[in-house]
Amino acid sequence: MTIEVLVLGAGQEVGKSCVIVKINGKRIMFDCGMHMRHTDHSRYPDFKKISDSGNFNDALDCIIITHFHLDHVGALAYFTEVCGYSGPVYMTYPTKALSPLMLEDYRKVMVDRRGEEEQFTSDHIAECMKKVIAVDLKQTVQVDEDLQIRAYYAGHVIGAAMFYVKVGDAEMVYTGDYNMTPDRHLGAAQIDRLRLDLLITESTYATTIRDSKYAREREFLKAVHKCVSGGGKVLIPTFALGRAQELRILLDDYWERMNLKVPIYFSSGLTIQANTYHKMLIGWTSQKIKDTYSTHNAFDFKNVHKFERSMLDAPGPCVLFATPGMLIGGFSLEVFKHWAPSEKNLVALPGYCMAGTVGHRLTSGKPTKVDTDPDTQIDVRCQVHFISYPFIYKEIYLLCKQFIKKISTSSSIYE
Ligand SMILES: [Zn+2]
Repeated sequence: MTIEVLVLGAGQEVGKSCVIVKINGKRIMFDCGMHMRHTDHSRYPDFKKISDSGNFNDALDCIIITHFHLDHVGALAYFTEVCGYSGPVYMTYPTKALSPLMLEDYRKVMVDRRGEEEQFTSDHIAECMKKVIAVDLKQTVQVDEDLQIRAYYAGHVIGAAMFYVKVGDAEMVYTGDYNMTPDRHLGAAQIDRLRLDLLITESTYATTIRDSKYAREREFLKAVHKCVSGGGKVLIPTFALGRAQELRILLDDYWERMNLKVPIYFSSGLTIQANTYHKMLIGWTSQKIKDTYSTHNAFDFKNVHKFERSMLDAPGPCVLFATPGMLIGGFSLEVFKHWAPSEKNLVALPGYCMAGTVGHRLTSGKPTKVDTDPDTQIDVRCQVHFISYPFIYKEIYLLCKQFIKKISTSSSIYE
């Protein structure tokens, strides 16, 4: 048996997960992600390392995508439509449903930002998704005579999966991000007892203690409650999928418990679409949500309403989830310009903000002024609250019978 591993991204860095494994003669690409911080071609994995000639169909037997986060799927439309890969791509049903939303959201933000050339079009995304074969959990799929794959529930975000691969006598698992403890809307990762020759596993936040998550949530709720009690407005800039749902369930519960009447809004478009998908995909959520589904669908937020642009300067307190995250541009940045100058208001940033974004400026020190574009400077008198864990690098471990290795990008490992 021979195993070769080529790491094109996410080895001790943030973003662009892409690992090529050659196992008993078959070559599989796990994830095809993009680097959120880069604006040139280094945002994509260096695909030339897979094939000098650019004939990717001969070089790969299939692509497997673990979940819809852009650092796992962001380069897929570029790889299939611009680089010309037309072989099979596998992902779960929810990942297939939600990835085009993520890609389109990202494309819009990039094109809307000045100086960003379009890397792939909406048509590219649609064409790319036609190449995708959707799979169910624990469904054994025969890619060809010798290559078998199977998805397992990973938690993390809706539809996320870990993938088992078998080629002849060789067996392996690639995890992508996974959660071992259930959160508010998803269950814990689950996998059969397997005898593997190779395990490639994400270990980002692996040593984070769960209690600290509750403490951070409490701090967040306290900050939001204090702001609205004082008559202020809370802006939560977020990407449409993933953390947005988790935070909304958290706030909705708190509002019920505290009997608060202050309205919670979300900006229109993607977020509503995303909630519709989450409702449809209820079977992929946590046991608790499934059990209570007949009496209460957790994604029918009692206290959450749709926000109209005309309400921007309306008086009175409120909480608004607006896309995109990181205050990278678009509607969330527009709201920020209106609300940041008042000390009554609060901006709560739920996740890592890449360098160069307004979100990043706010989390690094307490600026009193922020340039939102070359012609606009905003006075920042509002409160700023950072909810997430501090930024850390992605770590992937490779476990073989012979050795355990922390892998870095651009490394090739042969057994
Ligand atoms: Zn992820």
